[in-house]
Amino acid sequence: MSDQDRIEIHPEPVYGAGIWHFATYVDRYATDGYGEPRTVLDAIKLAGAVDDLAVVDLNWPFPPGNVSTAEVKDALAEEGLRAIAVTPEFYTGKFAKGGFTNPDPAVRRQAIELVAGSAEVGRELGVDYVKLWPGQDGYDYPFQADYTDLWDKSVDAVRELALAFPDLRFAIEYKPREPRNRMVFSSMARTLLAIEDMAVDNVGVLLDFGHSLYGGETPAEAARMAIARNRLFAIDVNDNFRGWDDDMVVGSVHLLETFEFFFALRDAGWDGVWQLDQFPFREDSVEAATAGIRTMRAFHHALDHLDRDALAAAQSAQDALRAQRIAKRALYRALAESESV
Ligand code: FE
Ligand code: FE
Repeated sequence: MSDQDRIEIHPEPVYGAGIWHFATYVDRYATDGYGEPRTVLDAIKLAGAVDDLAVVDLNWPFPPGNVSTAEVKDALAEEGLRAIAVTPEFYTGKFAKGGFTNPDPAVRRQAIELVAGSAEVGRELGVDYVKLWPGQDGYDYPFQADYTDLWDKSVDAVRELALAFPDLRFAIEYKPREPRNRMVFSSMARTLLAIEDMAVDNVGVLLDFGHSLYGGETPAEAARMAIARNRLFAIDVNDNFRGWDDDMVVGSVHLLETFEFFFALRDAGWDGVWQLDQFPFREDSVEAATAGIRTMRAFHHALDHLDRDALAAAQSAQDALRAQRIAKRALYRALAESESV
């Protein structure tokens, strides 16, 4: 197969971003924030300024909490953007002791209802999936939790939502830690196991590259596990130093592993959105998104020219150095071209 054939069989990649990429942030030190607060409408405007950004994942309730779905729809249309997902915020202060696993049944119910509310908004916006990030579902200390109870409550809540919205898809984003020291959905294997326990078709995984990295996984391998089970609904890409969820610009630290991740997805025929989940605390958010997309484009370009037959031969011989040479040859050439423009 020639390079030209390979380019033709792949549709143009669609690039996206979590809308929080364009927000300003607070942390436990800069409690006054890294910049003036922005509404979701401000953030959509900034997202619209990024070339090649086509879709966004939207937190709900829309920050600061009083923005209507109609206003968001108009703002998206104005910027030529589409909502690919909604992310219900059932991980805020009132869910400190858990959303789906809160010991108080009334708070647990509120968490499920908040997600259901976001699903209805998602329908209105025509999203591809509802993202579930149960950030407060986990524990912090030894002896604190009944592990079976946490697991069952998590599985039951997601199953209930999936059955209530059979026309929608739910994507669980796993993360090893933060804000909880330990999370229920902490790895690809645990998340796939929980989905198996749910026994529904419309729940899958959102694989966040950075979460997978600092969780000690090889993201390309984790992706293959989910794809083999038809459960890879979405991805987030970013980078970190492997100790924390730094949410840095794509390819800034683990360039070759990120390229391998893109290879794994494209090689499996995965056709989802290539989505940024970066937190530019001190960088210009439009520039950071542009830099991330430029690197993603370079990965795709490199994959168009990767010598797949030679790579397959090297892999079947487990020839590490030859496989790396083939991957690097394609990657470095594409990067040099993308950074020179
Ligand atoms: Fe993420
Ligand atoms: Fe994250």
